[in-house]
Amino acid sequence: MRAAIYRGPGEITVEEVPRPEIESSTDAIVRVTHTAVCGSDLWFYRGQSDREEGSRVGHEPMGIVEEVGDDVRSVEPGDRVFAPFVISCGRCEFCRKGLHTSCVNGDSWGGDNGGGQGEYVRATEADGTLVRVPDRHADDEDTLEAILPLTDVMGTGHHAAVSAGVSEGDTCIVVGDGAVGLCGVLAARRLGAERIIAMGHHEDRLELAESFGATETIAARGQDAVDAANDLTNGGANHVLECVGAASAMETAIDVCRPGGTVGYVGVPHGVDDSGLDVFSLFGDNIALNGGVAPVRAYADELLADVLQGTLDPSPIFTKTVDLDGVPEGYQAMDEREAIKVLVKL
Ligand SMILES: [Zn+2]
Ligand SMILES: [Zn+2]
Repeated sequence: MRAAIYRGPGEITVEEVPRPEIESSTDAIVRVTHTAVCGSDLWFYRGQSDREEGSRVGHEPMGIVEEVGDDVRSVEPGDRVFAPFVISCGRCEFCRKGLHTSCVNGDSWGGDNGGGQGEYVRATEADGTLVRVPDRHADDEDTLEAILPLTDVMGTGHHAAVSAGVSEGDTCIVVGDGAVGLCGVLAARRLGAERIIAMGHHEDRLELAESFGATETIAARGQDAVDAANDLTNGGANHVLECVGAASAMETAIDVCRPGGTVGYVGVPHGVDDSGLDVFSLFGDNIALNGGVAPVRAYADELLADVLQGTLDPSPIFTKTVDLDGVPEGYQAMDEREAIKVLVKL
């Protein structure tokens, strides 16, 4: 089969690799029909995080079940399914408390499971991992493109909003106008926030944030952005969604959080270890820091229900579509900020 391979910073190639096979009775093989390039893929693409050269990439697969192991009960060949960015069993202590990202039987895409940006993947723990799309929606292209972000960014944006404690009537600030931040806006609106202030650096993305439900936007940088947010909210918001992961974004999130408020953070931390997180900035104003890597499997069913009933549609974050051969071009477009998120249709 063919799959995208990491060949070093700035270099993704599409190569012939062995097709994953059923190895355990709980495995399923999925023929990938849709996948995506992720903002988190850019960290290794830019050489900012380590990744083994020659490894398969991608972690947001959707497709058709091709084959299942003897113990798989929830899906069968021919079913349309999607999978979160990590594999989880659904029955261990952590899965049962909704923390699927800490699953003791968990695994990642890549290696010989196949990366999400390739023709086939092996879902180990298929019953816990795969989410079935009901048959009547299974071939509707628009619906599938609205579902695909549930593999990662929509669930992650939702986790930011939940972690920040957003509920009916709240004022919140979303830091970051990438795919996760935009999904954070959708999530905050869905949870009933009354004022949603989106902060970012790109006018076009902030326009999309407005169409997703942001009531105000701030395009400034640094202290100007913080001052603008604090002016708008008369001293910060009680609920702040940190959707970037860079140390500067975390600082901004804390600086625009109202005393006693909560920052929900979901961005993969980068640079925070070098500069150090200023715990005193949290201490002085009793600001709570909540969140972490999003257990998107925990949210998949409720978000899927909303997509299927037509009240949630994150698909406008896909501003570029490529085929498998176009994956390297997709990385480049995201690296150069030409695309918010790239949809890959196989
Ligand atoms: Zn992702
Ligand atoms: Zn588990």
